[in-house]
Amino acid sequence: MFARMVRFVFAISLIAFSLVCAAPNAPSPTAATANPPPAPATPVPADASAPASPGQPKTTYSQCHVEGPFIAMTFDDGPHIENTPRLLDMLKERGIKATFFVVGQCAAEYPQILKRIAEEGHEIANHSWSHPQLSKMGEGSVTDQLQRTHDVITQTTGIAPKIMRPPYGAFTPNQRGWANHKWGYKIILWDVDPLDWKIRNADHVKSVILKETVNGSIILSHDIHKTTIDAMPATLDGLAAKGFKFVTVSELIAMDKPATPKPKASPAPKTPAATDEAAPKPAASATPPPPVAAGAAKK
Ligand SMILES: [Zn+2]
Repeated sequence: MFARMVRFVFAISLIAFSLVCAAPNAPSPTAATANPPPAPATPVPADASAPASPGQPKTTYSQCHVEGPFIAMTFDDGPHIENTPRLLDMLKERGIKATFFVVGQCAAEYPQILKRIAEEGHEIANHSWSHPQLSKMGEGSVTDQLQRTHDVITQTTGIAPKIMRPPYGAFTPNQRGWANHKWGYKIILWDVDPLDWKIRNADHVKSVILKETVNGSIILSHDIHKTTIDAMPATLDGLAAKGFKFVTVSELIAMDKPATPKPKASPAPKTPAATDEAAPKPAASATPPPPVAAGAAKK
């Protein structure tokens, strides 16, 4: 029984992932890793609770503390042959810059879309090569996942990514420190999650984002889903109407100020970075979720 379930989940995962880069008449994804990837959604909240050690630079952000109505729209798991160009048109029309956490094997399949993303001034970031759960993998495999993606982004666009987001938000504290050291990556999670991978409804996506976005928010969504892109005109216009200004994640991080209470006449205490404490909201999942990250105890 269990074995049958495992086979079922495995098959579903394969189907789900094959849709990520899939397109009419598209060649099958090339040179995937030996391990078949799980579904591309990002439903598991990250272990964002571990603060940076005292004296250590901050490496992980779920949101930023900024002086002003600045926010970052982020789009994961693409590029997608139809949905990403459609989204790019919407962003261009509005003069909005966003951040794309791309899957390396999709980026390799659609280099022309990757180039367009970069040429239009958006930020491109590393979301692994084939979307596995990195927290369960050893250093060699994780290196392969991140390095290949780093290379395809750099070689295609001429710009090396500065940030990464682990699939499912699943990355151990050790991995975060190590990825920061090895590639200089900041680890980017999110504080607004419309669950667009699960609830394929444009109105829902729009209303969650409009309701939950605050100054400094990092908004998670996926440019592989048509309903997410359908939601974007009203979402982007609604956010703009509320006075929000769109920046890339790296621009948002550059504005980040530690939210420290100011005690009188004493040096600023080294409090744990407050933004690291804001774990993304848990996904109350009606579908079988992918395995939970080892460190993702906090819901
Ligand atoms: Zn993802």
